[in-house]
Amino acid sequence: MKLSEVPGNLRTIVCGHVFRNERALVFVSNQEGDLCVFCGGPFCEAHTDNLHSIGIGHLFDREPALLELEIEEGSEAILGLDKSWAIMPLRMPN
Ligand SMILES: [Zn+2]
Repeated sequence: MKLSEVPGNLRTIVCGHVFRNERALVFVSNQEGDLCVFCGGPFCEAHTDNLHSIGIGHLFDREPALLELEIEEGSEAILGLDKSWAIMPLRMPN
């Protein structure tokens, strides 16, 4: 999916850090069509149940680089300091 073309209300799973705007968003994954956006930092809640659901449009103002991202199902993307995306196959936690 190309994020610049999805509706702003597309349901997106975020960690509490991103939800509360405590940390920059760095990690995006597309898992079976579910879009997840996490800070990717230490002690992130990405693999817990303590997650939130928001519309992707809320994140575009905070991180315009999202609009450059095209991410297929089964892929994850990490935002570099230069605001370029590194895209790779999704690694599932065990
Ligand atoms: Zn987090």
